[in-house]
Amino acid sequence: MFVDKARITIKAGDGGNGKVSFHREKYVAAGGPDGGDGGRGGDVYFVADTNLSSLIDFQYRKRYFAEKGQDGGSKKCSGKTGEDLVIHVPKGTVVRERGTGRILADLSGPDPVRVARGGKGGWGNSHFATATRQIPRFAKGGYPGESFDVELELKLLADVGLAGFPNVGKSTLISVVSAAKPEIANYHFTTLVPVLGVVKLGPEESFVMADIPGLIEGASEGVGLGHEFLRHVDRCRLIVHIVDVSGCEGRDPKEDFAAINRELERFDPELARRPMMVAANKCDIATPEQIEDFRAFVEAQGYPFFAISAAARKGTEELVKAVAKRLQDLPPIKEYQPEPVDREQLLAEAKPNQFTIRVEDGVYLVEADWLMHVLGMVDMDDYESLQYFQRVLRLSGIIDRLEEMGIQEGDTVSILNFEFEYLR
Ligand code: GDP
Ligand code: MG
Repeated sequence: MFVDKARITIKAGDGGNGKVSFHREKYVAAGGPDGGDGGRGGDVYFVADTNLSSLIDFQYRKRYFAEKGQDGGSKKCSGKTGEDLVIHVPKGTVVRERGTGRILADLSGPDPVRVARGGKGGWGNSHFATATRQIPRFAKGGYPGESFDVELELKLLADVGLAGFPNVGKSTLISVVSAAKPEIANYHFTTLVPVLGVVKLGPEESFVMADIPGLIEGASEGVGLGHEFLRHVDRCRLIVHIVDVSGCEGRDPKEDFAAINRELERFDPELARRPMMVAANKCDIATPEQIEDFRAFVEAQGYPFFAISAAARKGTEELVKAVAKRLQDLPPIKEYQPEPVDREQLLAEAKPNQFTIRVEDGVYLVEADWLMHVLGMVDMDDYESLQYFQRVLRLSGIIDRLEEMGIQEGDTVSILNFEFEYLR
């Protein structure tokens, strides 16, 4: 089975906790604080792996967690950094956040992409010694690592996508012009797995062609295989539309041609505007009238036309050369850019009155499960991001409650180890 979609949960490692400890030595009465910092949690990366061709592994394993940072030790020993987790996916996999659909990464290039950041380690008590506080009996816990429910989607990277009804000769063509060896069969249940073939024109010149299965009538409405597979055409720079011009199966080439174009349009109007070339296949068993009639029909609509016989290798070289030439003028394969957190989305995360606040040593400790998730989305070094965070605190009623509890300007508020000074 070909699997090109999967849902998994990823989580970067939490930061290790800071340590509370005091220097001890024989004959030294009261040593100073020497608790070390917690280590940073490991990050989660994705990397494209050319040995993989489907997302099947992700059907079985659903949770991917990077290692936590180690807790700090005594003698100012910092905890070890948690190990990163690298998840291997097929080339062309797009990673989206579930729910929002936000794109987190597109694994089209060779470089690993970090998708979830590990939490910072908490400070050990040695950090908190001041002139007035010589015996700090506290340290900080580590920050939570980022965590996401993600959807993986394989969007093949190909310059050219072959479109057409089953049995028109798509697999035959790709097997003739490239080294790919797809199944070729004289029945209507075609290719189940997209096949990529590298078409070589010279030592330096080549392009990638994809035999995309199941583009059949009604495909864009989810009838049959088509709908699921149409998205693989999505990145193609050029579509080569193959039609059986011989009508050897009692089909009408003109109707077939129009039907496929309708499917593309229905699936995505942008796809219907994608540059297209038309190859009339099975010319070896078609009459000259059939070919010329179809040529006129296609050219009247403004598409370049090629008469070929894939099986007899007639006209295929000319087609390949014309494709290569056309590709030179077309934009490169589409890559998706990661999208930032939607700030307004952050506001929607606020859950009014679902929190607890207690006061410990004059520090206001705010606790709420949902805030963990929000904190993971906030960039603490970015002013604007912080402003939104404050709005979340206000919307959820946390600020009001703090004021009811009598918080004063300059008091410390601690939210899951993230500390700030209260300012009106
Ligand atoms: P696909 O379903 O579009 O991938 O079609 P296939 O490549 O599997 O071909 C379907 C059938 O058409 C097979 O029996 C092929 O041998 C046959 N076929 C492909 N190209 C030609 C051609 O140029 N001429 C003739 N006569 N038959 C062909
Ligand atoms: Mg096929």
